[in-house]
Amino acid sequence: MQETSQEQVLWQTILGEAQLTQSEGNYKTWFEPAKLVEIDGEKIIIAHPNPFAKNQFEKRFNKDIVDILKKNGFNTPIIECVSKVKKKKDRVEVTAPSEPTVTVRSAKNISGLNPRYQFANFIVGDCNDLAYAAAQAAAAHPGERYNPIFVYGGVGLGKTHLIQAIGNEIINVTPSAKVKYLTAEDFVNDFLDHIKNKKGGFEDKYRNIDALIVDDIQFIAGKEKTQDAFFHTFNALHQQNKQIVLSSDRQPANIPTLTDRLKSRFQMGMMVDINLPDFETRCAIIESKAAGFDIEIPRATTEYLADKIKTNIRELEGAINKLLAFCEMQELEPTSDVAEGILDDIRASIPKHISPRQIIKKTADFFELKHEDIISSSHKNSRERQIAMYLIRSELRLSFPQIAREVNRKDHTTIMYGVEKIEKAIKFDAAIRDYISAIREKLYV
Ligand code: ADP
Ligand code: MG
Repeated sequence: MQETSQEQVLWQTILGEAQLTQSEGNYKTWFEPAKLVEIDGEKIIIAHPNPFAKNQFEKRFNKDIVDILKKNGFNTPIIECVSKVKKKKDRVEVTAPSEPTVTVRSAKNISGLNPRYQFANFIVGDCNDLAYAAAQAAAAHPGERYNPIFVYGGVGLGKTHLIQAIGNEIINVTPSAKVKYLTAEDFVNDFLDHIKNKKGGFEDKYRNIDALIVDDIQFIAGKEKTQDAFFHTFNALHQQNKQIVLSSDRQPANIPTLTDRLKSRFQMGMMVDINLPDFETRCAIIESKAAGFDIEIPRATTEYLADKIKTNIRELEGAINKLLAFCEMQELEPTSDVAEGILDDIRASIPKHISPRQIIKKTADFFELKHEDIISSSHKNSRERQIAMYLIRSELRLSFPQIAREVNRKDHTTIMYGVEKIEKAIKFDAAIRDYISAIREKLYV
């Protein structure tokens, strides 16, 4: 614990500069909790309680710190970041780094937030940097900057993590803040419960708070009464400059049967999307998740997993957990070969089998239609029908006549035409692309 004054002075200098040059969020998350533990010639060792810090310091702040050090007489400084809580090699203390030390635990029950979801353990890449920056700004200035903030993107890409991080950060900074997180489904159920049991107090429940975070808001579409209730809640909060945070699997404009007035409310603040992570970001995520384990993950294995799992971070996380837990138990090194076996295992346990009927059902559900609407021959819903045909074709590789039978058509050329139409539309129509990837993600869950 004893630090020489030289180290303290130098660290204070770095902190001072960082405070001026870094965003408040970055400063608080990355610099404030860090300590300079050792100066060894030109090498500076920084300890950080957050196990993801190593990565972040190397990727994002290395150059800034090097610049500061150069100004302070180090010619060729090398920075090494170590995790303060854990030394992997000699297996000392084990902590759960996926839960950084935070003060929100006591507030959990009221807020509905999970303290696991923090900005500090959210890996930032090209796919989510705008969303991350907007979320940080909203958390730093609740109700002032981006209101509402609307985060959208595919399944398992970090929407829940990011919007909960906003809530957790608000409470971290202002422990007395009243933050409420819930899913749109919870909101619907609570609303119905109040109506059914003639309970009062629904309005007050969601209006006397400082920040309301509603996950998967697309769920309220089509539910008229609930949408009305949410509209009034939204307005009441917005008028008082209370922060509203929403997430959805797609943009408001692409949520069918969402009332126009809610669409326009949702679009009046900041809309940001989260995209599929690129290879580098996937590697960084793997490393950060692996930091929670007592064994080191070799770079080759990281790259192997990043290459194999591209579209869903939740899946990636599941694979890492399974692999490392297995290796820890068996005292094996997590090589790519072992990883391959684990992935085969995971894949085998996912029921790959899906019927054309299920695809039609999921497509119908997605557009809030009935199975009959998709297979009927009316001109209405022809786009939705074509999407279902396209999905049957691309997922199951059925022949056109086979698909024709599934959707009650005599003539399979209609099917060919429909599938081709979607194949073309995918190239230039982002909404269609969004729909298809959203439905596809729902097919196997
Ligand atoms: P969504 O709500 O978009 O379906 P989640 O927020 O539930 O996705 O994310 C799925 C899992 O992946 C969570 O455990 C989350 O912590 C993790 N995750 C997603 N994005 C990131 C990220 N950028 N950095 C670290 N973990 C992430
Ligand atoms: Mg979610």
